Amino acid sequence: MINCVFCKIISGELPASKVYEDDAVLAFLDIAPINKGHTLLVPKEHHVNLLDCPEPLLICLTLALQKVGRAVREGVQADAFNVGLNNGRAAGQLVDHTHFHIIPRFHDDGLQSWGQRHYSDGEAERVVAAIRSALVV
Ligand code: 5GP
Ligand code: ZN
Repeated sequence: MINCVFCKIISGELPASKVYEDDAVLAFLDIAPINKGHTLLVPKEHHVNLLDCPEPLLICLTLALQKVGRAVREGVQADAFNVGLNNGRAAGQLVDHTHFHIIPRFHDDGLQSWGQRHYSDGEAERVVAAIRSALVV
């Protein structure tokens, strides 16, 4: 895809610190890490977000996520790691080529978790009904 920074990294037009590569996926260090070792995992095919990815590719991504997640944790001797995917602009997606973030975490890294909210009476039932009716199975 023209003007996609991740497609340019995949094609070699732009440099990146590559962690792992196979026929379907590429993992490389995020240029602005939340913690050192923060790695991005992308499909080699251009798909804007998770909902656009064909199912066989999702399998490749998930398998690589486990493989690369383990290597990131061990490589930087992290205590744990977060997996994130910003799906759409309102969720913080800035690069329109879907990607997982693998973020190493340390007990004392000072990063805060997101705040949590509460449901009012009956609200959870309405929300779950709306989500269930939107499910395509
Ligand atoms: P998003 O906000 O779309 O979920 O995350 C995009 C990520 O891509 C950001 O964390 C950003 O630092 C990273 N990024 C943007 N441009 C480049 C680049 O040219 N090279 C690398 N390695 N990472 C990039
Ligand atoms: Zn792309």
